[in-house]
Amino acid sequence: MGVRGGRSCGWSLSLFLVFLVSPRLTAQAIRLHVDLTDAPRNIYHAHLRIPAHAGELSLVFPKWIPGNHRPSGPLGALTGIHMEAGGHTIPWQRDAIDVYEFHVSVPAGVDTLDVSLDALTSQDSAGAGGPAASSNLLDLNWNAVVLYPRGARSDDVSFLPSVTLPGGWRFGTALPVTRTTGDEVEFATVSLTTLVDSPLIAGSHYRKIELTKPGEAPLHQMDLVADAEPDLAMTPTDVAAYQKLVAETRALFGERHYRQYHFLLTLSDQVGGHGLEHHESNDSVAAERTLLDPDLHMLYGGLVPHEFVHSWNGKYRRPSGLATANYQEPMIGDLLWVYEGLTEYLGNVLAKRSGLWTEEQYREALAGTAAALDHRSGRKWRPLEDTARSVQTLRMMGSQWQNWRRGLDYYPEGELIWLEVDSIIRQQTHGQRSLNDFCRRFHGGESGPPKVMLYTFDDVVRTLNDVAPYNWTNLLRERVAATSLHAPLAGIENGGWKLVYNDQPNLFTQAEEKLAKFADFSYSLGFVAGADGKLDDVIVGSPGYQSGLGPGMKLIAVNGRKWSPAVLHAALKSGQGSDQPIDLLVENAQFFKTYSVVYHDGDKNPHLERISAQPDILADILQPLTR
Ligand SMILES: [Zn+2]
Repeated sequence: MGVRGGRSCGWSLSLFLVFLVSPRLTAQAIRLHVDLTDAPRNIYHAHLRIPAHAGELSLVFPKWIPGNHRPSGPLGALTGIHMEAGGHTIPWQRDAIDVYEFHVSVPAGVDTLDVSLDALTSQDSAGAGGPAASSNLLDLNWNAVVLYPRGARSDDVSFLPSVTLPGGWRFGTALPVTRTTGDEVEFATVSLTTLVDSPLIAGSHYRKIELTKPGEAPLHQMDLVADAEPDLAMTPTDVAAYQKLVAETRALFGERHYRQYHFLLTLSDQVGGHGLEHHESNDSVAAERTLLDPDLHMLYGGLVPHEFVHSWNGKYRRPSGLATANYQEPMIGDLLWVYEGLTEYLGNVLAKRSGLWTEEQYREALAGTAAALDHRSGRKWRPLEDTARSVQTLRMMGSQWQNWRRGLDYYPEGELIWLEVDSIIRQQTHGQRSLNDFCRRFHGGESGPPKVMLYTFDDVVRTLNDVAPYNWTNLLRERVAATSLHAPLAGIENGGWKLVYNDQPNLFTQAEEKLAKFADFSYSLGFVAGADGKLDDVIVGSPGYQSGLGPGMKLIAVNGRKWSPAVLHAALKSGQGSDQPIDLLVENAQFFKTYSVVYHDGDKNPHLERISAQPDILADILQPLTR
């Protein structure tokens, strides 16, 4: 365990931390101006003034992006590179091996290298798919518009950033603002670490909501941008829930590792969906009508709590393999089942404790997670830890054959593992202790500006043993390193509930079907169908799989009638009393074929059912810590 500090010791100090890094740098900051006026057509124009001396200089473009946990720096979108010194164009050359690196010869007699570059943002939204900007709003992730000297620690390079916004747009960011003049905004000098950790959102429709109760510190503020003004109408109930979320995290963790916190929330169907955590902000995108539509409200209920939890679990406490000196050093994802899995668990629990979800909504979400993981055929060959180590290849693989390949399962399966851990602590200590005690010890520390405290697997086990002695090493190694045919459901069962399937729709899949996203037949026929009838994934071993169906095939008709979710649900129902198979006419790469699926058990949807003989530990877990 160790501390990786020095990243935030006040804005002025960072000016003086620079020069040990590279003989090319002076103590001066790199000036960075980003012209965002072309954001509606998804191109950001950047200009950097880099202090430099005569000689060879190598500059790098950030490759391994925190929170993405992989080499997702959008290099393909980096365009229009032009370098100049003393009024003359300076030729640059990309490194033949490391294509993120650029070599340049700085001529004698100059002290600054001017670099112009453009970031194309139509296909990268904070490391996720989809554009970063629309006609009305934008998301600026600074890693897409910077170069920095090769070999420098990101804590040791300072930047003096500024932006020009599209006319009349307003913005939110955790970066400290020094001056705003019309659409020009200047920020304080910060380290490259803080810059990359502090995205900016802006839009023509903007609303600021104070979440700090009067007289309380530090500042907690929600900055919302949306594609239309009515989308910003957060109800007083929701405002109260987010205020409670702030209070609940204080009660859970005890301390805070930020000077102020900004919830940057974009409401849009036009840009890529994502949630990206930072020390002092989170950059989250939800559907345009999330604040207005109860189904969307439920579907996105866990997003902001998850990203907020990361300020403690992920940013402050970080697995040693994910804390790197700069953005060129590779990351090791082995402990992502803690980084993301524990965050998923706490984020969903906090969604209930804060009032963003009801208890029933929490249980329905958990039932859906448990069922999906219990039907992952890839459990046979791939242990959970391997999905974490493979984040760089799995992240953008899509959903086809996901059950056999496994996806980013360290999120949802991590949630089940941490529920099990919480339930064991509560059982072992007869309700005297819980995972809340672990969080206080592991994530509390001392309040103050952002810093990073590293941890290893052994540190996690040690803290668990401090809370409640148990054979945690064996349990956790078994859960993450071994293969197993079934998902770890012991936490649900210890909690006084069990996973069941019946023909009543699960609230979450019902909402998704209603919003015409997809229809879920995973636990009956063995597939999910998109709005266009395209099969998303087909579970290996399911009736659909046995009939020959595969992902990517498109449903055309069910028993001779044009496909729709309702028609297929009806066919499942009538098939219950019949000995006839369900005939599915399918289009597969321009050819049509009928597949006969032998299945007679009707709709099957996951829910949790109470085990009446056992205490309801799950209800205890969901109780708010504050009044
Ligand atoms: Zn996360």
